[in-house]
Amino acid sequence: MADEMKPEGKAGNANDVIHSNGDASSELYEMVIDQLFAELKTVYAETGKVTDEVLSALNNVLQTPLLPALDLVDSKNVTLLVCPAGRKLYQVVGSSSTPYTCFESNNYCSCPAYKFSVLKKEEHSMCKHVLAVKLSNALGVTKELQVSNEEITDLLLHLE
Ligand SMILES: [Zn+2]
Repeated sequence: MADEMKPEGKAGNANDVIHSNGDASSELYEMVIDQLFAELKTVYAETGKVTDEVLSALNNVLQTPLLPALDLVDSKNVTLLVCPAGRKLYQVVGSSSTPYTCFESNNYCSCPAYKFSVLKKEEHSMCKHVLAVKLSNALGVTKELQVSNEEITDLLLHLE
């Protein structure tokens, strides 16, 4: 069962994020971002290139710096972990070689920047790791890794 299919989350930290982003302006903002990622995907699929137009549009809309995230994508630091039970999560190895756990669906990341800049101060809509996941998926370069159910459970239990 996918994360989105779960009944209203009560305790999980990752679930809190979904519920705090409900107002119309943030929905519109999400739509614009989704649209730009879709455009990036189409352009890349057709031409094999990332155009400056799309990148600068993304850079303007996102409050998150684009270049550090592109660096993570370039260094192939984004991995999708999939377990036999079907649960999926992303691991992004940050600049300090620490692997962080991310969910694309609600922009959750286990890094400190997520807690301070995204949740607490609301400076950024997502951290560079989640942005890297979105870019990596749009460009189709995300590595997929099959892991055991236990490994995913262990990662989920250790999220703060
Ligand atoms: Zn992060």
